[in-house]
Amino acid sequence: MRTKNRLNPIESKYFRPEITNCPECGGKLIYCHPVWRKTISTLKGEFKIINLGYRCENNSCSNDTVYRSAEAEQLSMKHITYGMDVIAYIGYLRFKEHKTRSEIATILSEKEVKISERQVQKLYERYALLLRASVKENMKETLENIVKEHGGLVLSIDGVQPEKGNETLYVIREVLSGTILAAHNLKSSASQELIGIIQPILDWGYPIQGFISDGQQSIRLAIEQIAPDIPYQYCQFHYFKDIAKPLVEKDRKLKTNIKKKLRGIREVERKIENSPSKNIEEEVASDYIAAIRSVLLEDGKPPFELPGTCVFERTNAIKDSIEKCLDKKGDSST
Ligand SMILES: [Zn+2]
Repeated sequence: MRTKNRLNPIESKYFRPEITNCPECGGKLIYCHPVWRKTISTLKGEFKIINLGYRCENNSCSNDTVYRSAEAEQLSMKHITYGMDVIAYIGYLRFKEHKTRSEIATILSEKEVKISERQVQKLYERYALLLRASVKENMKETLENIVKEHGGLVLSIDGVQPEKGNETLYVIREVLSGTILAAHNLKSSASQELIGIIQPILDWGYPIQGFISDGQQSIRLAIEQIAPDIPYQYCQFHYFKDIAKPLVEKDRKLKTNIKKKLRGIREVERKIENSPSKNIEEEVASDYIAAIRSVLLEDGKPPFELPGTCVFERTNAIKDSIEKCLDKKGDSST
């Protein structure tokens, strides 16, 4: 287990928050720093996940919340380096197929997930604990603090289906803190079933700033039915896309050109990923790469905001910052 001879470095994946605008003032959220970085083994391979933090661009706004991607949170659990898909699969193999730890380790290694029997046991325990999760005292405290600091919770729901199982593991999270609030195995993903697991959380009575999920129809219907007033992400901003197409076309070319010029950062990423020792310069470089990646994820909202123009402005700002940083370094070494 100790020697991981990788021919290829692990692919890095960057995520930005699904929420694009400040819930308080409506200002745009802009990149500030990576919230966390973590290597996660999933059934689809091993990835280095970087969850990018964004906050309100408006200096006079009182909202200093750092928003992060719910999708990135959904990939795994705190302190666990395996994906939710692996955890759900282990639960399925143990609960439904009654496989032993060593059988499960073998099945997973056939899928190129490196795991020991001990880790299988640990993940199985986490899975069992997850399904028993209820409001615990420490969770209450976390949620109360979130409400105090940020004015409300941001909830996300995601379903993971182990490949052969006929049940889906639904996990509900509070996104700002990364806390898992509930997890249930559902045989059906119909709206009624989903309401059954979302409603109890709404009944806790905390104010909710938003609800985030993928486009799954039944989830959208469930939320519309029980919480029509809570902003739901992923249904907005689709209206204006068709307007202003010619301008958007030119802007896209600008973005493509900038992206081409920034291709070299993959090389720098590889060097950092392969470097055995992490020194300060590499830390700084990887922070800059995260900043550049965040810019490249910029979609803008044409026609109001043009992604290419945005990318141009932001990459220039990063360039200035790097130059300043190099100047400082020059000063201190002389
Ligand atoms: Zn704001």
